[in-house]
Amino acid sequence: MNILILGSGGREHALAWAIKQNPKCDRLVCAPGNAGMDGIADCASVDILNGGAVAEFCAENAIDFVVIGPEAPLAAGVADRLRAAGIKCFGPSEEAAKLEASKAFTKAVCDAANAPTAAYARFTDAATARAYVTAQGAPIVIKADGLAAGKGVVVAMTLDEALAAIDDMFDGAFGNAGAEVVIEEFMEGEEASLFVLCHGEACLSVGSAQDHKRAFEGDEGPNTGGMGAYSPAPVLTTEIEEQAMAEIIRPTLAEMTRRGTPFEGVLYAGLMILDGQARLVEYNVRFGDPECQVLAMRLGAQVLDLLLACADNRLHETRAAFADDHALCVVMATDGYPGPYVKGSAIHGLDALPSSSKQEVFHAGTSTQDGQVVATGGRVLNVTARGENLQTARDLAYDMVDAIDWPEGFCRRDIGWRAL
Ligand code: AMP
Repeated sequence: MNILILGSGGREHALAWAIKQNPKCDRLVCAPGNAGMDGIADCASVDILNGGAVAEFCAENAIDFVVIGPEAPLAAGVADRLRAAGIKCFGPSEEAAKLEASKAFTKAVCDAANAPTAAYARFTDAATARAYVTAQGAPIVIKADGLAAGKGVVVAMTLDEALAAIDDMFDGAFGNAGAEVVIEEFMEGEEASLFVLCHGEACLSVGSAQDHKRAFEGDEGPNTGGMGAYSPAPVLTTEIEEQAMAEIIRPTLAEMTRRGTPFEGVLYAGLMILDGQARLVEYNVRFGDPECQVLAMRLGAQVLDLLLACADNRLHETRAAFADDHALCVVMATDGYPGPYVKGSAIHGLDALPSSSKQEVFHAGTSTQDGQVVATGGRVLNVTARGENLQTARDLAYDMVDAIDWPEGFCRRDIGWRAL
């Protein structure tokens, strides 16, 4: 089978790494890919936001299955275009992708599904929103409705912060994404993510993870795309996972089906856990990055079988076989990230690292220049390992970090602290 993966991050490299190990995979193509994927797949230059261009590429290259990594092509309807052309793909329709693309949409679905989540109100003008938060008080959470690259959420601990966030959003700090603002009750608890493959109302959990959003140790510094992750998340016990499936995931899927926009792909539920109960923080409609790296490391080659079962509507007869192990990923980023940083620094020592089913460096923002791997992005390497417990996985990951010679890069040294 010929498989095309859309995307160029660590998430897509991890998917490629797992899929490539499955004997069903004959040819693997990544578009656009990165220096890491280049080693295991053909990288192609295709406009991945243009469904027509992707469908044409599939026809020309006899592609049998397309895995869509990031949210942007999903929100642009690439999955719809591929399905209309008779090409099998993994990822939700544009309508179903609204579970990530619009916070207000998700809130309305949760209301109809009676899924536990934060109380909220929606606003389209600053004056009414300001009056509302002044009456509610802080802490309170202000969210731009649309996609804002993970930056459209302000958890305001004071009223002044909340009012400033409202003004910023209505002043266009997030462009069109802030034309509508959702204001939510602040939820206390511990966060964890649950990943569920779905096809209509059929669903299958493929694991849990916790990430590290802040740039620096001790959860200090600015928010980032994610500086590390581990799986499983100990806080998400079997009981809480069952509660989340019964009260949040299944009712959401039923409501999406009732609306005539069934969800097909991976539903990534961000959960807030307090007193043994999970409430929904948000949905994403694709794998997390770097959470995907730790899930892929635990699942290995069966990732392809699971994604195919999802696309073929065979989830009810499928099981995810987890080895009794733990995986941990340390993100290495360019100095300055998430602020401005200099591109083009050389990374040495990668070739000497172990590459096995237990240890792998997934690339994110890299490219090859004159045979040398160079950093071309903010988040650059995802150093990932698995072991029989989290401490072993963590030691293996940091052993690799220490062997990488990249003076212009940094990482957090405390990934996994909460679980350890
Ligand atoms: P979101 O993009 O909706 O996931 O929000 C980003 C982050 O903001 C989440 O991962 C939480 O840490 C935090 N957050 C969002 N909504 C709430 C809420 N209602 N209460 C507390 N924290 C929240």
